[in-house]
Amino acid sequence: MPRAEFLPFARPVIGEEEIAEVVDTLRSGWITTGPKTKSFEGAFKEFLGAPGALALNSCTAGLHTALVTLGVGPGDEVITTPMTFAASVNVIEHVGARPVLVDVEEDTLNIDPVAIEAAVTSRTKVILPVHYAGHPVELDAVFEIAKTHGLAVLEDAAHALPAKYNGRTIGSGSNPAAFSFYATKNLTTGEGGMLTGNPEFLERARVVSLHGMSRDAWKRYAKGGSWFYEVIEPGYKYNMTDIQAALGLWQLRRLGDFQERRRAIVAAYNSAFGQHRTFEVPTERENVEHAWHLYVLRLNLEAITVDRDRFIDELAKRNIGASVHFIPIHLHPFYRDKYGFAPGDFPVAHKNYKRIVSLPLHPGLSEADVSHVIEAVTDVADTFSR
Ligand SMILES: *Cc1c(COP(=O)(O)O)cnc(C)c1O
Repeated sequence: MPRAEFLPFARPVIGEEEIAEVVDTLRSGWITTGPKTKSFEGAFKEFLGAPGALALNSCTAGLHTALVTLGVGPGDEVITTPMTFAASVNVIEHVGARPVLVDVEEDTLNIDPVAIEAAVTSRTKVILPVHYAGHPVELDAVFEIAKTHGLAVLEDAAHALPAKYNGRTIGSGSNPAAFSFYATKNLTTGEGGMLTGNPEFLERARVVSLHGMSRDAWKRYAKGGSWFYEVIEPGYKYNMTDIQAALGLWQLRRLGDFQERRRAIVAAYNSAFGQHRTFEVPTERENVEHAWHLYVLRLNLEAITVDRDRFIDELAKRNIGASVHFIPIHLHPFYRDKYGFAPGDFPVAHKNYKRIVSLPLHPGLSEADVSHVIEAVTDVADTFSR
């Protein structure tokens, strides 16, 4: 029986505790960066085992702040992946540096360390890997290249909460890593982000992220705070509010349950699609723990008479929302035209772009929702079987 109501691709799970904590913040008289942001930073740092954490108003802000703090600017190159959201690459443009895209690995669609090595020049400053869909990048190989050539590694960990690589939690290292708390992410504060890394780096990043003001400027209206501050560089306005942190504190407490539910849904999808000739299910390598932000199903286009776009339209007709992650960076007009990219320049990214479909994967999905997704996806494949 077809589903009566549309199932959205993503939907946040917000509990009564989050709502009460936001109301408490609103009544407290302190609504922007303050005690709750500080406590969220502490809880997040502890959760990951990170050396430090800086709460910001987005992951994009975290990536930008990190590049500025690393001193990246005009003439510098940053190596990254085309299989990402535009924000990962836009921030490289914001600091005036050149994004150098390299292709991805066939199984994980993560940046290929062999391709990174081949792209290093005397101008390379940073490697910016993205843990695509929540599957960790081959970090040992990335750090080896970074060490050899004296490069910084800035991880885009927007999808990787929580994930592990060779037993190490993503974001627990001393290099900077940026997390996202956007509405669709594994933990949400509506909009928000966190930069992790070593405390000295984050102290400088904190100044960059708040107008370039020295000292803990947010304290200046609290008792014992001083009116005095000095601007030591033209910084940005990227601080998290206590209203956001109020959500984050409870979302973090729920994260374990969220992840358990995500894994159960992934298991159901894998067992439904794993043996079907039309599908290739996502990889989880032996040495990682996947954060399962996205469930990216790949279509064997030879097995069906429709393309991916039509496949998604057919799912929508069956009241199932789906999406595509991502339109590779080199296909977007700005990057295509500025750098003269052709679609086939990153063949693995391009070939897979044409056959990926992200299915709904969020902890609020009921058993019935999951069955509806499985029925609809299977029905489209069988209806248009070649
Ligand atoms: C969501 C996302 C971002 C941006 O996160 P914001 O918090 O919205 O700024 C960056 N990179 C990737 C890979 C993302 O998916």
